[in-house]
Amino acid sequence: MKTIFSKIINKEIPCYLVAENNFAIAFMDINPVAKGHVLVVPKIQVDYLFDLDDDTYHKLWDFVKLVAKGIKKTIRCNRVGVSVVGLEVPHAHVHLIPISSVSDMSFSNKVDMSSEEIERISIDIRNTLL
Ligand code: 5GP
Repeated sequence: MKTIFSKIINKEIPCYLVAENNFAIAFMDINPVAKGHVLVVPKIQVDYLFDLDDDTYHKLWDFVKLVAKGIKKTIRCNRVGVSVVGLEVPHAHVHLIPISSVSDMSFSNKVDMSSEEIERISIDIRNTLL
């Protein structure tokens, strides 16, 4: 069965796109724990990150690095935190979360953002990557 992320990858459902290449996509988390919370997802549908083939795995992390640099240029923060959870969506993905303290990484935090604001941030991050 196709995951919600595969449907996003196939453009069957929308997302606020940050960046995309042949093997991965980065888009805004719809329920962010911080402003600028981005998900980086391999296009191949594999549930568990560490089950990815080596080539996709390494390319994914190269892409994560690129996107994280774009987030850091866009959002005022101390650094971009990285988290892999995967308990909600069974499609491997990396969370990139702008943080200034360790508590900013908590998934209990949810920021209330309008879709317009999420979209604007996605465009701002994307523009740093051009
Ligand atoms: P995890 O599987 O790592 O526990 O969490 C999945 C993440 O995906 C959550 O942060 C959730 O907000 C996000 N998410 C779930 N469904 C969608 C969706 O349809 N679109 C987007 N952009 N994010 C989603």
